[in-house]
Amino acid sequence: MSSSPPVSSAAAAGLNLAQQEAVNYLHGPCLVLAGAGSGKTRVITHKIGRLIQTGLKPEQIAAITFTNKAAAEMRERAKSLIGKQARGVLICTFHALGVRMLRQDGAALGLKPQFSILDSDDVTSILKDAGGSTDAATVRNWQWTISRWKGMGLNAAQAEGQVNGDEERVIARIMAQYEERLSAYQSVDFDDLIGLPLKLLQEHEAVRSKWQAALGHVLVDEYQDTNATQYEVLKLLVGERGRFTAVGDDDQSIYGWRGATLDNLKKLPQDFPKLKVVKLEQNYRSTSAILRAANNVIGPNPKLYPKTLFSELGEGEPVRVLDCDSEEHEAERVVARIQSLRAEGSLLAEGGQYREWKDFCVLYRANHMAKPFEKAFRKANIPYKVSGGQSFFDRAEIKDLCSWMVLLVNNDNNPAFIRSIKTPKRGIGHTTLGALSLFADTYKLSLFESLFSNSLNSVLPAKAVGSLHEFGRYLNELEQRAKKTVGAEEARVFLADWLKEIDYEKHLYAGEESEKVAAARWSNVMDFCDWMAQRCGGQIADASGAVVEKETKTMLEVVQTIALLSTISEREGEQNVVTLSTLHASKGLEWPHVVLAGCNEGLLPFKLEDDDGANSDSIALRLQEERRLMYVGITRAQRTLAVNWLRRRKKGRDMIPGVPSRFIAEMALDKTTIKEDPREKIKALRAEFAKKSADSLAAAAAFKHR
Ligand code: ATP
Ligand code: MG
Repeated sequence: MSSSPPVSSAAAAGLNLAQQEAVNYLHGPCLVLAGAGSGKTRVITHKIGRLIQTGLKPEQIAAITFTNKAAAEMRERAKSLIGKQARGVLICTFHALGVRMLRQDGAALGLKPQFSILDSDDVTSILKDAGGSTDAATVRNWQWTISRWKGMGLNAAQAEGQVNGDEERVIARIMAQYEERLSAYQSVDFDDLIGLPLKLLQEHEAVRSKWQAALGHVLVDEYQDTNATQYEVLKLLVGERGRFTAVGDDDQSIYGWRGATLDNLKKLPQDFPKLKVVKLEQNYRSTSAILRAANNVIGPNPKLYPKTLFSELGEGEPVRVLDCDSEEHEAERVVARIQSLRAEGSLLAEGGQYREWKDFCVLYRANHMAKPFEKAFRKANIPYKVSGGQSFFDRAEIKDLCSWMVLLVNNDNNPAFIRSIKTPKRGIGHTTLGALSLFADTYKLSLFESLFSNSLNSVLPAKAVGSLHEFGRYLNELEQRAKKTVGAEEARVFLADWLKEIDYEKHLYAGEESEKVAAARWSNVMDFCDWMAQRCGGQIADASGAVVEKETKTMLEVVQTIALLSTISEREGEQNVVTLSTLHASKGLEWPHVVLAGCNEGLLPFKLEDDDGANSDSIALRLQEERRLMYVGITRAQRTLAVNWLRRRKKGRDMIPGVPSRFIAEMALDKTTIKEDPREKIKALRAEFAKKSADSLAAAAAFKHR
């Protein structure tokens, strides 16, 4: 071939020609547009290496991923490809990039470097307070509306200027109070992590030039799921030179409901006329049988960019459709399937590959669908993890406890300070905290340092100062105790005393509408204490229940490791366990054996018709997004795929007859590939046997009468 691209390590590393073209195009805007499993993410990792090879410093490269987990995985891949240098590359989500920009340059917007970031639970509780409602649905509606306005770049005043009706006017006013509280607490929410950096880049030329000069190349994975604000941030980061690489697949855009927009894909060629578009056509992930089903499903959707996708991995196992009587029956069938595929795997001569737990994944539409599988897996001793749902350490009650722990180690951690002082409530209101925060800001102190300042009396009434002092003293005392607490046994006492002293159990029960939820939360707290105590060492029970002696640590030493918790949950990804995941959280990932659970009308596609006021256009658009979700699900599978549907399913408290998802028919599987229920088979055999017996009886009778 005469026009072969420059020879580089990329070729040796296993990239096809189109991938090499994208990797070697270094000095202008580049879009890689291709179907699932075609090696788009691989292009990003290799391009990082190529950019460094051609002289860019690792710090000059930013690779933006969709989730923290994807960032962790890309960091790993980059490390194994280019070694230590990968450490310098900024690999993170848009939100994490926003944090970095605001920590460095947020002062231009009046933000202190140690501002705190509120999570969704924090926002809910501030809104409950600001709007004076405890009704979860109402508060959620406020949260969504405010988030939508922020996504459109509106502040409270601007929102009030364009409201539609009284309800929205009320929300705009609550938003004004919400803004006030956020600034009093020096806090930002998730939307601000994109909105404020954009404001920085738009309004502060010095900051914009600094970032444009600092970044030699920006790479964006899962580009189809960026929203309008993120695109604006990207444009301002890369400036006119437009040195960036975006990779994406319009058929995998599944976050429209959260504001992601395919307009970002459509706009690229207009905004960057020199855009180089590379298409990849070979899928390296799935067998032909799986890929054909995926292509058939996505077929009916309108095409933004026509694409073809082929696999050279052979036809492979046919896609199975399993019908199940109920959710419980489905879980049993999945257990049986996993066990038999593993047994078969251990017998396989070719490749000698043993099928590990981590080779299996069950995907479903909604978080609550994990439960029957969790129960069945526990019963069958199958190790598993639930991803995409709420991880243990993301739970509000665990975050409450962690904030106390973090504060013990670092008194100056303001977000932890705010969370702890309010959990449980100790009569210190937001006016006091606002004044404390202003005071801390004025004197450049942390909130904790401000507590004991003599001049605090001048800005707060004696009673408020008294309550603050009491909290500060309690913290100091707790820290001293944690230093002296050694080993699991003492740790248990320490933790139990502390929970009693802050009256946490009562706080949980008071905050929950339902006792059942509060009890579940309290049982998580107990799990957490157990986990912490175990880490303090001494005589503890190991996984099999046997008592072993482990090196002892003080409670404070263990607490110090809490700061590393985020890395713990990342490490969970490497465990050898079956994955249970929502379809949304499975994006970008792959497993040898995948089960798509609950493929019923009303679940996948999700109830389309129930939405009041939805017109036929919006229903059609939602159906398209559901179809893309099914496409994402199918294309996670490498070797085998089973698609389940339920004959009867729960709807609220009732059981209703189940209808198989229209997507099953759209997969257009060969009839022969659809495996029958074994019980149906037995029934058929019995019927055949009965018929044969009847026939032979009839024959015998006929013989007799001859
Ligand atoms: P998705 O659309 O699901 O995000 P993707 O396009 O990002 O998929 P990758 O995850 O990069 O695809 O690649 C899919 C699989 O194919 C991975 O296991 C990857 O290692 C492998 N792969 C990619 N390119 C090649 C190649 N040129 N040769 C061999 N294997 C490849
Ligand atoms: Mg990918």
